[in-house]
Amino acid sequence: MSQPERHLPGPGAAISTDLYLDRYAARTAGMTASEIRALFAVASRPEVVSLAGGSPFTAALPLDTIGDMIAQLVHDRGATALQYGIGQGEPLLREQICDVMALEGITASPEDVVVTVGSQQGLDLVSRVFLDPGDIVLAEGPSYVGALGTFAAAQAEVVHVAMDDAGLQPEALRQALADLASRGRTAKLLYLIPNHQNPAGVTLAEERRDVVLDIARSAGVIVLEDNPYGLLGFDGEPLRALRARTDDGVLYLGSFSKTFSPGLRVGWVLAPHGVREKLVLATEAQILCPPVFSQQIVSTYLATQPWQEQIKVFQEIYHERRDATLSALEQLMPPGLSWTHPTGGFYVWVTLPDGLDSKLMQPRAVHERVAYVPGTGFYADGAGRSQLRLSYCFPPPERIREGVRRLAGVVEAELELVGVFGAESGRQPRSVPRPGAEDRGEPPTRPRLVVPL
Ligand code: PMP
Repeated sequence: MSQPERHLPGPGAAISTDLYLDRYAARTAGMTASEIRALFAVASRPEVVSLAGGSPFTAALPLDTIGDMIAQLVHDRGATALQYGIGQGEPLLREQICDVMALEGITASPEDVVVTVGSQQGLDLVSRVFLDPGDIVLAEGPSYVGALGTFAAAQAEVVHVAMDDAGLQPEALRQALADLASRGRTAKLLYLIPNHQNPAGVTLAEERRDVVLDIARSAGVIVLEDNPYGLLGFDGEPLRALRARTDDGVLYLGSFSKTFSPGLRVGWVLAPHGVREKLVLATEAQILCPPVFSQQIVSTYLATQPWQEQIKVFQEIYHERRDATLSALEQLMPPGLSWTHPTGGFYVWVTLPDGLDSKLMQPRAVHERVAYVPGTGFYADGAGRSQLRLSYCFPPPERIREGVRRLAGVVEAELELVGVFGAESGRQPRSVPRPGAEDRGEPPTRPRLVVPL
């Protein structure tokens, strides 16, 4: 039997032992390996305070009651709960999803809801239905790493739009669209996380919401509103969703991962009628139907348990942890850092003093038994070296304080190093695009994360 012809790698090329290397689809080029996988294996050790992962605090759920509820569900309706279902998702759950969305001002028909395997699958479905290779997606800078991964897998180009403490800057959005127009291009999607953004922890201000929608509408750009944290605000009522303001040109992603359970993997897309049909065809091709058992658990939970009270329990827990994070940062960090002040959700976005690099600092942090996610993970273009994300959703307040204390020590040590040896100290981070890489058509190397996102 003849051996397949093998090509010798060119000068400078990495030598791979993967025999399938030349057979992969072009889209796998966007699926880059984790540069920090090894670090996270270490970071998940119990002695490390992890401020890295975005795991909701599921221990706060009434687990015994949920156990009984699930047993009862199997007892009463096991044969259908353990059966295949329909691609669009269980009709009763889709009605209940409309009640959940009504809390943020959305009026919708269950007919226009497609249940997904978490909102992550919703991101993938929307990408499959709308994005061709080379299409442009506008996204906040920084943005959710899981969405960047999905857009990369669709071979789309992400252009970041600047944010400030009030969320996406309308002027920056206008400018980004004008820049694209001057290149004869436009964007297909504007991907936004308007509430308690991942990773920046900021919320799109009320007065900006209609402005952003108007800009997108007049440029013919579809808005993709990703809203897993909208009901996890700490003060007062949630702002009206973008989708509540118009049903024209907005696709909405929702999820039960943060308000109930990420393990059940139940989310949804709300889309205009015609789009909904395409999404159902795409989901059927991908997964046949979302898991019926998970859907029926969520549906029964919503019908029989005080789920809005449970959301209040989560709000209080995360509020206390946010406070613990901010006061520890205030009290323990050396001068020169700044951070956002989230009014809900899971994340604080920290900016380091000049000369510090969050990615280079990470091994030292893990050595000092504290983990965070470097900012570079949240940009498609190699930016974010001087930022990092802290998640306060999982560790209790005293652990958060200890984690911040350790991190403050690491920052101080780095500042001392930079003071002695200068900012670069001969160390080039691997995430920064190599000079001329874009001209050579090479994608920027972007870390893929293996922590909960
Ligand atoms: N969007 C955002 C902004 C997220 O933070 C996450 C999870 N961290 C997701 C989508 C995906 O969530 P899930 O698939 O669990 O619904």
